Amino acid sequence: MEIRKGIPASPGVGIAQALIIDCEDYPIPKRPIEPAQRGQEVQRVEQAFELACAELDALVNDQAKGSTEIKDIFAVHIRFLHDPTLRRQITDLINNQLVTAEFAVSTVLREIAAHFGKSKDPYISEREADVFDLERRLLRHLLGHRCRDLRDLDKEVVVVAKELSPTQTASFDKRFVRAIASDKGGRTSHSAIVARSLGIPAVVALEDFSEVVRPTDIVIVDGSRGIAIANPDPGTLAEYQKHLNEYIIQQQRLDSLRDKPALTRDGTKVKVRGNIEFPQEAQIVLDKGGEGIGLYRTEFLYLTSEDEPSEQQHYEAYLKVAQICQGRPIVIRTFDLGADKYSQRRRPVPERNPFLGLRSIRYCLQHLPMFRTQLRAILRASVAGDVRIMFPLVTNLAELRQAKLILRDVMEDLDDEGIPYNRDLKVGIMIETPAAAFTASTLAREADFFSIGTNDLIQYTLAVDRANEQVASLFSAAEPAVLRLIRTVIQDAYKARIEVSVCGEMASEPEYVMLLLGLGIRTLSVTAPMIPQVKQMIRSVTIQECNELARRVITMSSERHISTLLRRRASEVLPETV
Ligand code: PEP
Ligand code: MG
Repeated sequence: MEIRKGIPASPGVGIAQALIIDCEDYPIPKRPIEPAQRGQEVQRVEQAFELACAELDALVNDQAKGSTEIKDIFAVHIRFLHDPTLRRQITDLINNQLVTAEFAVSTVLREIAAHFGKSKDPYISEREADVFDLERRLLRHLLGHRCRDLRDLDKEVVVVAKELSPTQTASFDKRFVRAIASDKGGRTSHSAIVARSLGIPAVVALEDFSEVVRPTDIVIVDGSRGIAIANPDPGTLAEYQKHLNEYIIQQQRLDSLRDKPALTRDGTKVKVRGNIEFPQEAQIVLDKGGEGIGLYRTEFLYLTSEDEPSEQQHYEAYLKVAQICQGRPIVIRTFDLGADKYSQRRRPVPERNPFLGLRSIRYCLQHLPMFRTQLRAILRASVAGDVRIMFPLVTNLAELRQAKLILRDVMEDLDDEGIPYNRDLKVGIMIETPAAAFTASTLAREADFFSIGTNDLIQYTLAVDRANEQVASLFSAAEPAVLRLIRTVIQDAYKARIEVSVCGEMASEPEYVMLLLGLGIRTLSVTAPMIPQVKQMIRSVTIQECNELARRVITMSSERHISTLLRRRASEVLPETV
């Protein structure tokens, strides 16, 4: 039995056999195979070689693309792949040492690369890079096979990986993926957000868990406590089966709050909306008792599609949400691409600091045709419901003005074409950077609403990468600097009489609900599975209690003391949910 403690990323318990997803970006662990699996692994190598050869042949033969020099390089790769010694070395390793195809390919090619690298002859030493390139190509075929397996699952699994991209996580079928355990990532990394939104229990930052798990192991993931266990003993397994049953009963009880209003005990109304990544999730938000969509992360439309989505694809997605929501508000956030949210095919030259790079509204303002296509589709869908537009990662007034200028221009095009849209649709911004928070009073003059994106606001205020498990303990909404910024934004929004909500993960954490209400928040946008719990918290408190708590917290100077106090107050109010 192997037990690891990580970061709880999505609540609940999942138990099933492991499905390990390795990644070509990390060294392949040496996982043993059974003697009977040797033939199958050798066949996988053969297949990967064939696919790589076919791919390279196509590149060399494509007359339209690439210079002669590039084609010559690929021709060398092909010759290399046809070398029988190379294949023999790989299959010998599988047969003699009982290792996986991935491990054998990676080990043999890295040995050859190292050998080339040491050569004094510059022509030979430069071939080192070619061999690495081939290794990645072969691994992509071997590992891609695993990803295809994931799309055709017919039995329950716990996905175990070094790291998962938001796009990979978004493709998981909730009926079969019972839980996720990953070595890397943080609580607000986008794959963790997607797991929460799909209701799949997940633990991240598990160090070397993916290396110690074997493909035949049963794995338990306790996403509420941040624990992952491989190959549990019968007692542990029985204990977690019990937890799982209790969790399901608790969720069913909470779901009964669905039709109850989010009113505090002293009668203050709070709007609880839901965050979604895909149109069909809008129904889940309503089923959980949400009152509309407070954050629609539209970039997932782009991330899961092979090509750039057409205006019609955008339109159909937004129309579907509008039809489900039947007049309830829908805040459509324009593409927040970049950083950890890139489509696999369109990944540009790597940036040195992707989270400080060309992401979000900056990316849209540099890719105007794509941006305009999305704006057109949102405007067209605006006649079907209470559709609102929200621009992400705005840092100054110039950016907001530029984005609004483009929106006006797109409106004029629609006017010229006689296409109807809602002229009065609200246009708001996310407050996700200290720059935006400090200038909230200025931005409020030209924005119809604010939504505080605490995931990024925390990241940029504290200089802590939200997806980096090594600094995850420093990432906290309870840091005094973060809380003061949030308070400033709320106060400035009140002065300007515009709506202000919180849509970052902080809003989905029950222990922050009292504080946010005390700071003046009356609209929360929450990941769908957490809506009942957040509602229950709202229904258990008075605004006076919240105000007292907020007044006290804002004078405190220690994150640790603030977190402890918030947890204590929440557990006094609702012992069973925090
Ligand atoms: C945020 O940053 O808090 C937010 C809601 O946006 P995302 O998590 O998609 O970056
Ligand atoms: Mg954000």
